[in-house]
Amino acid sequence: MDARDRLRQYFEQRRELGEREFVLDGLPLEEALRLIGLRGDASRSADHPTETSGARDVADRAGADGDWRAALRSIGAQKPGSEQPSSGPVAKAPAPRAPAATGAPASDPPHAGIAIGHALGGVKSDAALGALDSLDAVAKAVRSCTLCSLHATAKNAVPGEGNPHAGFVCVGEAPGATEDETGRPFVGRAGELLTKILIAVNLAREDVFICNVLKHRPPGNRNPTDPEIKACSPYLLRQLELLQPRVILALGTFAAQTLLQTTQSIGKLRGQVHRYYGVPLIVTYHPAALLRNPSWKRPTWEDVQLARRIFD
Ligand code: URA
Repeated sequence: MDARDRLRQYFEQRRELGEREFVLDGLPLEEALRLIGLRGDASRSADHPTETSGARDVADRAGADGDWRAALRSIGAQKPGSEQPSSGPVAKAPAPRAPAATGAPASDPPHAGIAIGHALGGVKSDAALGALDSLDAVAKAVRSCTLCSLHATAKNAVPGEGNPHAGFVCVGEAPGATEDETGRPFVGRAGELLTKILIAVNLAREDVFICNVLKHRPPGNRNPTDPEIKACSPYLLRQLELLQPRVILALGTFAAQTLLQTTQSIGKLRGQVHRYYGVPLIVTYHPAALLRNPSWKRPTWEDVQLARRIFD
């Protein structure tokens, strides 16, 4: 049996197992094309991205060729085979979160949409949060917030940004240095990668809303502490309540564990559809972690595609 027959047999088996999609990873594009009897075209190969490739470029490569590994490599992700030992977006597993922030486990949604006004609890009073009747009002409150000490060391608050009617919301961990400088979420290296991942599923940054669990940068990018999460997450929850998204993409451990009120690892949480007050929530690796661990690119791609399918 030649390679082509073996490939055909393999795809047929996958189809019989009920799969409708097949994500190629680890096989060079040229080799895959050669296997199915098509000649590769080096000028369009996704394996030769330029450092300066713009969004259009990436969309062409990642979208049209279906290979966003190129997008990852173009901003410095290591090549497969050179990965470091597992080091997720956080160094230690966070302690269990106090359930006050959401009031109810996501797997048992009390509402079809997000309506958490009575369950916010925590440091900020329900009435004060309920009075924040727009995303701008939340942003303003975040900018003057002193509920934890992070405001004292941060240069700027980073409330979040994007399309208020997006339907697709990305939630990260906390601002980093570039975000702290600019007051905008996900604009550093991890942000560039997030932008490219979104483009790969045909979403522009302007099409989605992007925010974080913490709205001020922890000094030196240290992990958020439980009191900081407790103080800050009501703002996130209020944002979600106002946004009423169709799908939430939780990026990394802190976002996933905060929203789902769990201490489960990201490896366990990803790859399935959770519910956050009835709203589908997909967990995936944080883009910063992806830059360090290229072996997570494939599961991330699957998660983001899943989120996109649900959004559609
Ligand atoms: N990492 C995050 O979690 N959020 C940002 O905004 C930037 C980096």
